[in-house]
Amino acid sequence: MEQTYVMVKPDGVQRGLVGEIISRIERRGLKIIALRINVIKEATAKEHYIEHETKSFFTSLVKFIVSSPSISMVVTGKDAIRVMRTIAGATNPVDATPGTIRGDFALDIGRNVVHASDSTDAAAREIAIHFKDSEIWKYSKIDEVCIYE
Ligand code: UDP
Ligand code: MG
Repeated sequence: MEQTYVMVKPDGVQRGLVGEIISRIERRGLKIIALRINVIKEATAKEHYIEHETKSFFTSLVKFIVSSPSISMVVTGKDAIRVMRTIAGATNPVDATPGTIRGDFALDIGRNVVHASDSTDAAAREIAIHFKDSEIWKYSKIDEVCIYE
């Protein structure tokens, strides 16, 4: 089972989309094993988006991410990284397929509602940035016999 880091960005929280997004994650059969709401510290946001440090949008992206509370989650399940990227949809919401979060709820690339890790390396790195081991809960769910063969 993979683990991935998922964020409902400040725009998603402000727009009251937290329940909708969590519902989509749960309905798919993925399991939430860590969750919090907080205003991410600027240093943490910079570390999270370090790969984009030299890009023109980096400063505005970091400023937006720390502007108000966001939801941070660790989500686990079969191919959780790829499945969460598919649930999120294309980075530019204009290109995102209806049925994806970005394709249903967003229009602007800088207000695309969610983040989801894009690889196993990124997932491990991002989970470690946002959560201590003691905040991640390993547990069984009674529906797992129905979700997995
Ligand atoms: N972003 C932006 N302008 C761009 C490209 C990206 O504002 O031209 C923002 C956008 O919110 C995106 C985030 O930077 O979600 C990280 O970019 P990345 O390419 O990693 O997209 P993601 O992994 O979020 O799909
Ligand atoms: Mg990315």
